[in-house]
Amino acid sequence: MEIGTPRRTKEIIAKYGFSFKKSLGQNFLIDQNILNKIVGAAELDKTKGALEIGPGIGALTQRLAEEAGKVTAVEIDNRLIPILRDILEGETNAEVVHGDVLKLDLKQLFAERFADVSGVSVVANLPYYVTTPILMKLLEERLPLEHIVVMIQKEVAERMAAKPGGKDYGSLSVAVQYYCVPQLVCTVPHTVFIPQPNVDSAVIKLTLRDKPAVDVPDEEHFFRVVQASFAQRRKTLANNLTAFVGKDRREALAELLKRCDIDPVRRGETLSLEEFARISRAMLDAGW
Ligand code: SAM
Repeated sequence: MEIGTPRRTKEIIAKYGFSFKKSLGQNFLIDQNILNKIVGAAELDKTKGALEIGPGIGALTQRLAEEAGKVTAVEIDNRLIPILRDILEGETNAEVVHGDVLKLDLKQLFAERFADVSGVSVVANLPYYVTTPILMKLLEERLPLEHIVVMIQKEVAERMAAKPGGKDYGSLSVAVQYYCVPQLVCTVPHTVFIPQPNVDSAVIKLTLRDKPAVDVPDEEHFFRVVQASFAQRRKTLANNLTAFVGKDRREALAELLKRCDIDPVRRGETLSLEEFARISRAMLDAGW
């Protein structure tokens, strides 16, 4: 029987006497239509693996087990582990791991669990209080992922997918787009969760690039330039970057930006990834 329906979810909660922990971002999905959209976007088949973060009582895990060859679901809440093992007993290709995804050695988990699949995607209804740290961990560890399909806060999804020039575009957009091609799958009303969250939600699909969107000799430097460019959104690029390189380089910085074909009075939010990369390369050439 499907877990992700209002009736079945309420039955499970009552049967096991489960109480929700707001601090763990526990909002369970009760809509098969949304579950199908999430699973459909992940392009799974029986040769693929799926890593789920935060299975809750298994609504999405159950659907993933139907579509993928192997599913590993990492859940932090120890009260949910026996419930999940009981409910998912018949899903022989699904495994539940107790742990905090932010602390787990995911490379080791991939080696142990996904050595024999043709590709792995992360598919999850993420706990909203740790969305960005979880996604940045997945991306920065360079895990061999095909897609990341996640339900997250709508506003965060819009920031991840934003193009230069808009108010939503910032360092998160650049970081995500450096590694992935983002696509908003759908927006999701409050009513499809128990309990209902007090923010709007959206499903975003991030397709991992074979290589980063831009070529930079020093990634850490590139991301520091990006962070500095957005430090104060009302300030010009030249002013924000002066704070980064030091006041005594103010004039040299204006020259450097001109050499990069970038007007120093522009704001960080108008720059493309390629333009940030050009600045980072030029600064490194100048020994900054
Ligand atoms: N997947 C279920 C669903 O869609 O109904 C539950 C999603 S609920 C939004 C988020 C889940 O993530 C909860 O079960 C919560 O306990 C779990 N969780 C929260 N923080 C976590 C972490 N750091 N590592 C692993 N799981 C976590």
